[in-house]
Amino acid sequence: MRRWLYIAALVGALPGALAAGAAPTCILNPARVDPMTLQVFREELAGILAASGMTAEFGACEAGSVRITLRGAPPETETAALGAARFKDGKVLPELEIYVDGIARLLDTRLAGVLGRAMARVAAHEMAHYLRQQGGHEAEGALRERLSVAHLLAADRRYFRLTPPVAR
Ligand SMILES: [Zn+2]
Repeated sequence: MRRWLYIAALVGALPGALAAGAAPTCILNPARVDPMTLQVFREELAGILAASGMTAEFGACEAGSVRITLRGAPPETETAALGAARFKDGKVLPELEIYVDGIARLLDTRLAGVLGRAMARVAAHEMAHYLRQQGGHEAEGALRERLSVAHLLAADRRYFRLTPPVAR
């Protein structure tokens, strides 16, 4: 059985991708997001990965790549969702979805520079679920459960770093 992870609780080891520092990623665009917004999306996601000590590699979908599907509306059962990660048999899979209409509604705009940045931060949240194999959320950082407009647009993207918080 395959399900989508909206909220869950599981903990596992870091998969190899995070340790290796490479993040092969492919983007599917059934929502038909325009090229300018897509460019901002890729740049912001690459910036978050760089701030996490990782390198973004955008390309075709193949084995080992993280697949990000840009959809319009979220599922009817999850109307407040901005994104989701698929999970199966207790593992988070590299199959992520971003709900562009939901994000645009929250932002109250589709301006490329605004929407693209916010979409990338939602993608970073879902990617953190996968890379850390962690279904649960945290009080602050990329895995914060509820992301406000301020979180999605703040100037400093380092809040969304994908690596686990440093122990203090
Ligand atoms: Zn989440």
